[in-house]
Amino acid sequence: MRERCADAMSIIAKYGATDLFITFTANPNWPEITENLRPSEHTTDSPDLLARVFNLKLKSLMDDPTVHGALGKSIAQVYTIEFQKRRLPHAHILIVLRAADKFSTSEHIDKFVRAEIPSSIENLRLNEIVTKCLMHGPCGTDNPREPCMEAGQCKKMFPKDYNELKPQ
Ligand SMILES: [Zn+2]
Repeated sequence: MRERCADAMSIIAKYGATDLFITFTANPNWPEITENLRPSEHTTDSPDLLARVFNLKLKSLMDDPTVHGALGKSIAQVYTIEFQKRRLPHAHILIVLRAADKFSTSEHIDKFVRAEIPSSIENLRLNEIVTKCLMHGPCGTDNPREPCMEAGQCKKMFPKDYNELKPQ
């Protein structure tokens, strides 16, 4: 582990600061997993299957040095795999882009980074992915068995009040 950490530091020392920090998380509902579980089995019952599917998908992502061409050409990349409480693996990926592809303007960043729910009219699939995989809940009194629920309340204090965008 120390050698790998030293390798990562050497890569950054040679190629410079990273441009992208990407988190790639296992989805227990990937068809490759759900289609291979036994009838009464849950994803947590088959960590070997989960690990295999996660590793194949991570390898597919990392094999393309440009992250499928969408983000620019990478000249260096490192990643680490961690496990969440329910044994779901996720990878933290650092990528150094070649000089021509570095994010140099806010407009360039805005092409790839969003802090809003994508419109279902403009991109239904992206809207469904974000609302299903990246949003908390539903929890609360209607869903008392959610893992975030404790003593009838959400431990993360959801739902939260909507915040209007404040002008700068
Ligand atoms: Zn909650």
